[in-house]
Amino acid sequence: MRLILLGPPGSGKGTQSEFLVSRYGIPQISTGDILREAVAKGTQLGRAAKAYMEEGKLVPDQLIIDIIKERLVAPDCERGFILDGFPRTEAQAEALRTTLSEMELSLSAVINIQVDEPTLIRRLSGRRICRDCQANYHIDYSPPKISDKCNKCGGEIYQRKDDKEEVIKNRLKVYLDQTEPLINYYKNVGGLLKEINGKGKVEEIFDRIVNVLE
Ligand code: AMP
Repeated sequence: MRLILLGPPGSGKGTQSEFLVSRYGIPQISTGDILREAVAKGTQLGRAAKAYMEEGKLVPDQLIIDIIKERLVAPDCERGFILDGFPRTEAQAEALRTTLSEMELSLSAVINIQVDEPTLIRRLSGRRICRDCQANYHIDYSPPKISDKCNKCGGEIYQRKDDKEEVIKNRLKVYLDQTEPLINYYKNVGGLLKEINGKGKVEEIFDRIVNVLE
């Protein structure tokens, strides 16, 4: 199964990816996670991406396309993958199309998770992440049992710099300008686009996704 999860920041792509990974045994490829790791390690990629990320802007297409091309040929992608946060521009979508066709592969579905803007802002501003295992928390809806410590690995819980209110607004604008047009792009590619209502309990949303996939 080869999936794309579309949807604005805060729509739950990361959370739903975790569920999909355990159900289908295919890897989640999150360009955001790959970039954050590169920034934390101070690699060349991380140094190139850091300023864009902190301002909520998109990292240049070519950097992202190179990451994806390298990642898709890894052995764990043989049975499929879940793309979370990629593609985010039409240039990225085109590069993906070319790469997959060179590999003689095609996409199974593009899941668009729909959530209204006030809900996105509430979710993003309360979101907290484990520095070690990237598990997701929310200060109101799913706080860690011991404050600031991850339930799963005991790692430190932190707030992403780009989840601060002033950056969130910018990320949502960037999404509307550059990523939302991909909904139409994939609508035009024979029946790939599946619309999912992204409000409600995470388990309910996951059931909706499984229903359209199976
Ligand atoms: P995310 O965790 O998916 O919200 O991504 C965090 C940040 O990483 C974004 O605001 C961008 O700065 C950068 N980023 C992640 N994925 C991409 C992508 N496909 N294209 C460009 N920038 C990206």
